[in-house]
Amino acid sequence: MTKNEVKEKPAVSHTPSSDFAKEVEQEYGGEGIMKCIQCGMCTASCMVASMTDRYRPRQLIQKILLGKREEVLTSDLPWLCMTCRLCEERCQEDVNLSEIFHAVREIAAREGHIPKVFQSTVDQVLEDGWLLKDAYSDFIEEDREDLGLDTDLNWNDEFVKKVKKRYFSGGNKK
Ligand code: SF4
Ligand code: SF4
Repeated sequence: MTKNEVKEKPAVSHTPSSDFAKEVEQEYGGEGIMKCIQCGMCTASCMVASMTDRYRPRQLIQKILLGKREEVLTSDLPWLCMTCRLCEERCQEDVNLSEIFHAVREIAAREGHIPKVFQSTVDQVLEDGWLLKDAYSDFIEEDREDLGLDTDLNWNDEFVKKVKKRYFSGGNKK
């Protein structure tokens, strides 16, 4: 074959083929999923993956691309990402994995698939406006007093109302 006969390789298309991939792509944060070329650098970089064989970010992206909607949404795997973004630093295709997994969590949460451990955290915040029940200590109260800040945390009621309105009633997000 002469030099002129060497055909150029067709451009690789990373367009997601499944409906689920397209759905994730439409979700805020999920836009970059089509760029993944399945090289595996993310899995090699991920601290969570180094702790458990269950979690493989490349594989999770692959499942989304292949349209394994039910399997992904009912699994706790998208919730295991710590959003450390180390994988994103190393991904040659600039895939924003942590945001993609956030997008997947959004879809899962809307459909009622929140792992128990996270649901209990949400319930806690809704109950008293604090992530950690006993986080408001005497020390914090003294600090607030020293700083001239209000130590009366009645404002939590308003915060809880806003959270409920924004995330749990489908109402106006303002
Ligand atoms: S490093 Fe990037 S391109 Fe490679 S598998 Fe992970 S997300 Fe895909
Ligand atoms: S952002 Fe998530 S997937 Fe990426 S390295 Fe960190 S924990 Fe792993």
